[in-house]
Amino acid sequence: MDPFASPHNLDRQLHSLLGEASSNLCDWLAESGSQGPMPSSFDLPEVFPKKEGIPNSVLLKELQLLMNGSFRPSHPGALAHLDPPPLSASIVGELICAGLNNNLLAEELSPSLSLLERKLCKWFCEKLGLGNLSGGVAASGGSLSNLMALVMARNIAGLESDPSAVFFASEDCHVSLLKAVRIMGLKQESLQKVPTDEKGKLNISYLKSIFKKIKSEGKKCFAVVATAGTTVRGAIDPLSEIDQFCKKENIWLHVDGAIGGIYCLSTITSGVLGGLASADSITVNPQKLLGIAKTSSLLLVANKSHLSSAFSTGLPYAEPLTGNDSHGGELGIQGTRSAESLKLWIGLRQLGEDGIEKILLDSIKRKCYLESLIDSSKFRIISGPLHLLAFTPLDNTSYKSSDWSIRTRRSLLTSKFMLSRPMYRNRYYLKAVMGNPNTKFEDLKLLANLINHSIF
Ligand SMILES: *Cc1c(COP(=O)(O)O)cnc(C)c1O
Repeated sequence: MDPFASPHNLDRQLHSLLGEASSNLCDWLAESGSQGPMPSSFDLPEVFPKKEGIPNSVLLKELQLLMNGSFRPSHPGALAHLDPPPLSASIVGELICAGLNNNLLAEELSPSLSLLERKLCKWFCEKLGLGNLSGGVAASGGSLSNLMALVMARNIAGLESDPSAVFFASEDCHVSLLKAVRIMGLKQESLQKVPTDEKGKLNISYLKSIFKKIKSEGKKCFAVVATAGTTVRGAIDPLSEIDQFCKKENIWLHVDGAIGGIYCLSTITSGVLGGLASADSITVNPQKLLGIAKTSSLLLVANKSHLSSAFSTGLPYAEPLTGNDSHGGELGIQGTRSAESLKLWIGLRQLGEDGIEKILLDSIKRKCYLESLIDSSKFRIISGPLHLLAFTPLDNTSYKSSDWSIRTRRSLLTSKFMLSRPMYRNRYYLKAVMGNPNTKFEDLKLLANLINHSIF
């Protein structure tokens, strides 16, 4: 068998391989409800290639073993993380993307898809209100989008060779910022963590006082990172106040909207974000709630030329572009890049604005419903305006949070509910993310009942 599809006639082997593989995938999805979010056990197929290649029939059997050992995001009880089931159209988008095998590095390797990415980024920028000069680039995950934003901000501030340069973020900021510190050759204390208030939002007066102290020590600052949707409780930092501060001090404002940014797509939900339009850059992760197949993240910037001024090196091996546009490889850290915007585009088109709005609103409705069912005389519940909540026993003398959380997480799993167990402010919480559209109110009733009975 020829392992490459014929460029001259219909490749019947590929045709039937795709047909069978898709059919197996549909079966896997269809049985997800009767399984649990996690496999009880699994066997790995043989890992290394043998001397001789194996036929498609065997490949499909081995593939099935991997599928059987996979996490099932579409199970209604899969509520642990920001990993919803994939939109049907986005599955197809990912498949076609692999078949096209274009490269977003340069236009000549992805003529239509490069243009599609630019237009989609611009559409997101308009939804966020980022203005005429705005644009963006897709990245393989929010960690990368945040890193690129910080590198760009530091460049614009002219501090790229200052290892003691500082940026600010709340104490509840995402771990990707710490990775950025390491990658950027900064000191650990370059990330100045600002305390949060009782709702988990960055405390602006602490920001001001820490900033003053840093300045008096002679250190230079290059960015404030505001989080729109923190990882444990979905808190949204006070964006317009932070923005005012940044404008006054002339500092770059990056909004890590990996969780919350997507709520800008509906006028009903965009209000919870507040003040995004004046950010210099924003991370948005359509993979986290909309169900765009992983990975799908965008870095959107108010002034697109800042991306190329930070990352452009010249691409001597690609034909130059006419006009103002830059090759994808000139706009970020990644070189060769898959056309992730294809599955984003097709997913958004499948949903339409109404479908998008429904996903956003339903996620918040499920969160509010679950919150209303959890017994607040037994639990401290923490949650912002978004679709995630976390809870821990109020009575932490008889219920040590670590014992309770381990025991309860395990017993919920036997009832096919998967929650996560974050450590927050020195206590363990259980966290539920309501991004799974297959979760019904009936499921949540059952879940709340189990939670309420986890302490006596
Ligand atoms: C998930 C997340 C990120 C990182 O995104 P990845 O796609 O996992 O790299 C960054 N910030 C926040 C707030 C997140 O929740």
